[in-house]
Amino acid sequence: MRKHDVLVIGAGLAGQRAALAAAQAGRSVGILTKLHPLRSHSGAAQGGINAAVGAQDSVETHIYDTVKGSDYLGDQDAIEFFCTEAPKIVVEMEHFGTIFSRAEDGSLAARPFGGAGFPRTIYAADRTGLALLQALYEHLGSVDVTVYEEWDLVDLVLRGSRVQGVVAYHRRTGELDGFSAPAVVFATGPFGRMYSRTTNSHSSTGDGVAVAYRAGAWLKDMEFVQFHPTALIEDGILITEGARGEGGILKNGRGERFMSKYAPHVHELASRDVVSRAIYTEVLEGRGFPGGYVHLELMHLGKEKIESRLQEICDFCRNFAGIDPVTEPIPIMPGQHYMMGGISTNLRGETNIAGLYAAGEAACVSIHGANRLGGNSLLETLVFGKQAGIAAAAFAPTVPGAEVLPEDVRAAKDRIEGMKRRTEGPTPLPLRAELQKIMEEDVGIYRTAEELTRALGRLAELKVKSRDLRIPDPSHVFNLNVTDALETLHLIDLAEVVVAGALARTESRGAHARRDYPKRDDANWMKHTIASYRPEGPQLSYAPVAYTRWEPKERVY
Ligand SMILES: Cc1cc2nc3c(=O)[nH]c(=O)nc-3n(C[C@H](O)[C@H](O)[C@H](O)COP(=O)(O)OP(=O)(O)OC[C@H]3O[C@@H](n4cnc5c(N)ncnc54)[C@H](O)[C@@H]3O)c2cc1C
Repeated sequence: MRKHDVLVIGAGLAGQRAALAAAQAGRSVGILTKLHPLRSHSGAAQGGINAAVGAQDSVETHIYDTVKGSDYLGDQDAIEFFCTEAPKIVVEMEHFGTIFSRAEDGSLAARPFGGAGFPRTIYAADRTGLALLQALYEHLGSVDVTVYEEWDLVDLVLRGSRVQGVVAYHRRTGELDGFSAPAVVFATGPFGRMYSRTTNSHSSTGDGVAVAYRAGAWLKDMEFVQFHPTALIEDGILITEGARGEGGILKNGRGERFMSKYAPHVHELASRDVVSRAIYTEVLEGRGFPGGYVHLELMHLGKEKIESRLQEICDFCRNFAGIDPVTEPIPIMPGQHYMMGGISTNLRGETNIAGLYAAGEAACVSIHGANRLGGNSLLETLVFGKQAGIAAAAFAPTVPGAEVLPEDVRAAKDRIEGMKRRTEGPTPLPLRAELQKIMEEDVGIYRTAEELTRALGRLAELKVKSRDLRIPDPSHVFNLNVTDALETLHLIDLAEVVVAGALARTESRGAHARRDYPKRDDANWMKHTIASYRPEGPQLSYAPVAYTRWEPKERVY
């Protein structure tokens, strides 16, 4: 058994920042990660990170934009803290060696992003996430942190209500082992893989969120799912908002530039939810291309502009879709992009379980409320990753030593061995594909009671089926079938929470658009959804939104 004061699960930006803070506080820190740290989804972020560092920008406008962007569901005390920390944390990342792009006068360059009143998205070309991740990873080398790579979190171990550590599965050997720690930080990232067309990497399966949920942690606002308007039709790879920023236009199957109908002033540059809903409506009403998609056209921008400003997009289109955007339109449809919900925390990363902390996309503080602004989530990983690390480091010495016992490990081992022994029953990936089909068909951009009720029924059947889940490959070394099985079970539990919350919320707010309840309903629904685990399905309750200074108004751009 390995022992630490603070154990961080996940080595993306949130996990690394938490580990750094806890190590700087003098604790013994371990990071457990299923991927190499630099393969974390944080590295896929292109656009940038928000911070009011410009001379004419202000923290105050960043706060206001975030509150408004959240459709007034974000907690205003957390948002104030978040935006106030932003300039410090971004400059700190610069001092750690992040090579940010520069303005002509040498200051940090900033680009305009949707929903922001000022250009405040700091970037490193179109590879911001990777630049941040590399700088932070190098800096982490300056403190004493043990990184356990290719270990999958399987269970959170509690004795009574006290955190003892986790049980994890080692991909390289097939071994299961315990990691003891009185303070554990979950920073396991997103869970977009419950959808088939998603911009999320294959590893984004919500492992930590599902494990925490089953152990009794509350999940918050899980029904709010952000769709990005332009994902490649083939596999959902993201085509950055920058493509429209540079002048790209959207056309339907009749060759019409349909956005002028939905957003007569800003056309393709309306907010993400507006553009996504417009594309979807065109296809639904029969004006898409056969097979159901629309075109993003860049051709009129000319070869030089496309190839210099949208280099990565050119690579993606050529390598993954066999299309040359210089001479051909790009077939796109909205794809799942970001989960506003997650493990419920306060602004110190504390959950309802003492000793359990969460940060990054796995957590819900909440600062994004019903809709996240682009550029705010990279920032969230660093601001709240650091807070969670500080809080976990302070907590660890206040409780007696924690210990994961052999029987905790055995329980996890028995479950996995049981799945390996089965000769009948569904295998992981077809089961995951069934889940994705349900979510794509019934839990999309627009929702109705009818579809959501059907989705819940289909998920209940899937859950019954999943009890017979079978791991067809019995081997021990790099048996990714085991990982696939664990991840699929996580996704199924989380999908149920998304759907239950969406069905209960009889209003439209931010990314949650109900056709049968098209208006925001502040009188009844200005509240957070809290889900707690029961084997038969989530128990929902509600919690108030924290207000400081901003009265809810209609959200218009
Ligand atoms: C394509 C794309 C582009 C984006 N662009 C932007 C952008 O421009 N600006 C912005 O602000 N946001 C952007 N986002 C969102 C943002 O990148 C993410 O919200 C953020 O990076 C998540 O960071 P994280 O540290 O929470 O998780 P991740 O970076 O996903 O890291 C998760 C970590 O958890 C580990 N892990 C997961 N499960 C387990 C397990 N069972 N056991 C052990 N370890 C586990 C993984 O190994 C990984 O190290 C983008 C997202 C995507 C998908």
